[in-house]
Amino acid sequence: MRPVIALVGRPNVGKSTLFNRVTKSRDALVADFPGLTRDRKYGTGVIGERDYLIIDTGGLSGDDAGIDEYMAKQTWLAVDEASIVLFLVDGKQGLTGADELVAERLRRQGKIVYLAVNKTDAVDPDQALTEFYGLGFDGMFAIAATQGRGVTQMMNQILEEA
Ligand code: GDP
Ligand code: MG
Repeated sequence: MRPVIALVGRPNVGKSTLFNRVTKSRDALVADFPGLTRDRKYGTGVIGERDYLIIDTGGLSGDDAGIDEYMAKQTWLAVDEASIVLFLVDGKQGLTGADELVAERLRRQGKIVYLAVNKTDAVDPDQALTEFYGLGFDGMFAIAATQGRGVTQMMNQILEEA
């Protein structure tokens, strides 16, 4: 089974930037993955000899009501489809209450969750990581999706453990 990775996190943390970088616009053939729908954005990433499916999502504000409802629903459906969740946060902005709400909900899903602290081109990566320790995720990575810093290393480690 190819791993399926869902990108989850608040709007503007850099999910689509990371998605575009690792897929380089390789659209996934959804037909190869029974049970998937066209409602979410799927792509294929490759690390060495291994490929994986990655799902981009619209973003979660932490409050699933109102205008965010459809986006939130799509996100949780993507989490259901995934074997691995990659939870993105914004290292430049720092920890927010919405991050804490999403983290709490992810913990209850019982999936493997990794935390990627993005935008660490703009801040000290170690300091940025420290700020998010309290969310309680074992697998944490400091990345910069725009430049690709730390991205290959992160994907390697995630797939090694998959
Ligand atoms: P999404 O809403 O989570 O999909 O976020 P986007 O991928 O659309 O990115 C939101 C904004 O953050 C854009 O202006 C990106 O250029 C910017 N961004 C994404 N990744 C990085 C990064 O690693 N460093 C910096 N400085 N900006 C980033
Ligand atoms: Mg996006």
